[in-house]
Amino acid sequence: MSEQVLALDIGGTKIAVALVDETGAVTSEVVRPTVASLDAEEVFAAAAAAVVEVLAAREPSDQPLRVGIGSAGPIDAPTGTISPVNIAAWRDYPVVRRVSDTVADVLAQPPVVGLAGDGHCFALGEHWLGAGRDLDSMVGLVLSTGVGGGAVLGNRLFAGTTGNAVHLGHISVNAWGPRCVCGGHGCVEMYARGPALVAAARERGWRGGEDAQALTADARAGDPVALEVIEVGMRALAAGIATTATELDVRTFVLGGGVSRAGEVVFAPLRRHLRDFAVLGYVVDLEVRPAVLENAGLLGAAALAFTL
Ligand SMILES: [Zn+2]
Repeated sequence: MSEQVLALDIGGTKIAVALVDETGAVTSEVVRPTVASLDAEEVFAAAAAAVVEVLAAREPSDQPLRVGIGSAGPIDAPTGTISPVNIAAWRDYPVVRRVSDTVADVLAQPPVVGLAGDGHCFALGEHWLGAGRDLDSMVGLVLSTGVGGGAVLGNRLFAGTTGNAVHLGHISVNAWGPRCVCGGHGCVEMYARGPALVAAARERGWRGGEDAQALTADARAGDPVALEVIEVGMRALAAGIATTATELDVRTFVLGGGVSRAGEVVFAPLRRHLRDFAVLGYVVDLEVRPAVLENAGLLGAAALAFTL
């Protein structure tokens, strides 16, 4: 019988909990909206209820349950705490201890629990079962309302000291640029993330829909302003990717997230600008692949659990 691990994918809008086996098959899954409350324990109670519900479907086992938690960041892996930007109630929230206690109550045996950021879990998921499954090393990137990422190097997650390595969205690509929410200047995210593309288009007179999906649809239809802001955003992202490739000596990037689903209208300018930045011998042949999984974050949390 194949071992099952427990995977949690914690985000600002929803929390997914599932049992996943060694083939990546999701054998039980509960998805709940993230509770909009400023009470930390109220937010956790909904997640804990999902854990209890999912564990009821677990096949009996004598082995301690292995648990992988993927969470919106920032996280602090050594202390097992998280402070997700989009979950205001949780600041230095001890999620590893709280999940561990919840599982121990149900199974009468303490689990083994690991924690990673959502960008890292995305990379682990795509590496295990998605667009990077043929690779030893790759960087996964999520292009949506932010720009997150994670690297798998030699088939191992490169977590960094605190578990936040390869935060590509906050690489500065314009040292004289405006101040970013992170405190830095001219970060990739300020030009490439979905809301930044929309804001830039609005400034130039675009009167299309509300979000990046509407913007990329207009770009596909040939709208010159939409094409222009995507051009600028993908140049910033290309600079960030080239910097990361030059530092890590990795050849393949897997790009996912809402904005990337627009397809060639995003990938074509990104690849074109990459050729302008990635010029050193060992990075000239960088490859950017579209992500293929719908639930890379959840499967990545499971992949993390299997390494514990
Ligand atoms: Zn920043």
